[in-house]
This record gives sequence, structure tokens and C-alpha cells, in this order.
Amino acid sequence: MQNPELKTAYFELKGILKTIPGSCCPKGWSKVVLEGHKKITSLYPEIGVAQIKEKFAGLRYYYTAPVEQRPYIDEIIYEMDDKCSVTCMTCGEPGTERQDGWISVLCDKCFEEKRPSST
Ligand SMILES: [Zn+2]
Repeated sequence: MQNPELKTAYFELKGILKTIPGSCCPKGWSKVVLEGHKKITSLYPEIGVAQIKEKFAGLRYYYTAPVEQRPYIDEIIYEMDDKCSVTCMTCGEPGTERQDGWISVLCDKCFEEKRPSST
């Protein structure tokens, strides 16, 4: 994690996730999730965030909010999930979905590093 911006975001997001039970987020997605979370909570302060986590290389963001606000909140979550699906979970660089017994979003570099070398 050489990107200092990502490091700052990860640190800040970790503090937020600590207050939401069962939540976690891949390091590489920290910036995307932090920005989305801030956008949602500033536009809809009465939202109750139940859980934030990664599942099958997608972002899960569970919340409770008044019914009339849900379509707008879902829109922001959809945007976040969209960005996450092309962001390396390890380093935050542009990545693609990989199926290596485990679905994850990785850039070429992180994917190569993760692979057991066959040479
Ligand atoms: Zn990467």
C-alpha cells in the first residue's frame, strides 16, 4: 500500500467500520467506500448503517432509512459498487475481476503477486 491517499482513507474508514458491527472493507476499496459513505451520511443523516462488507468481489452496504429515501441511497451504493468492481482490492489501482478459486478484483501486478509461481 504505497499510495498515501489510500492509506489515509483506510485509516479513517477503519475508525468508522469499528462502530458498525461485522463490517470490513478491502484496503484497496477504502477511498471509494469512504467517499460513498460520507456522501450518504451527509445527504441522509438519519440513515442507520447496519453493515458494510465485501462479498463475492462486490460491495454490500446494509442500512435502514425512510422508504422515500431508499432509491436515492441505493443509487449512491450502486455507484460505489460499480467503482469497487474495477478497483484492485489490494492496492486501489484499476483492476478487473479474477476467478482464482476465489472471486476478487485485482490489478495485473497484485494478481501476479498472489499467484503461486509456476516457473
Ligand atoms: Zn493491485
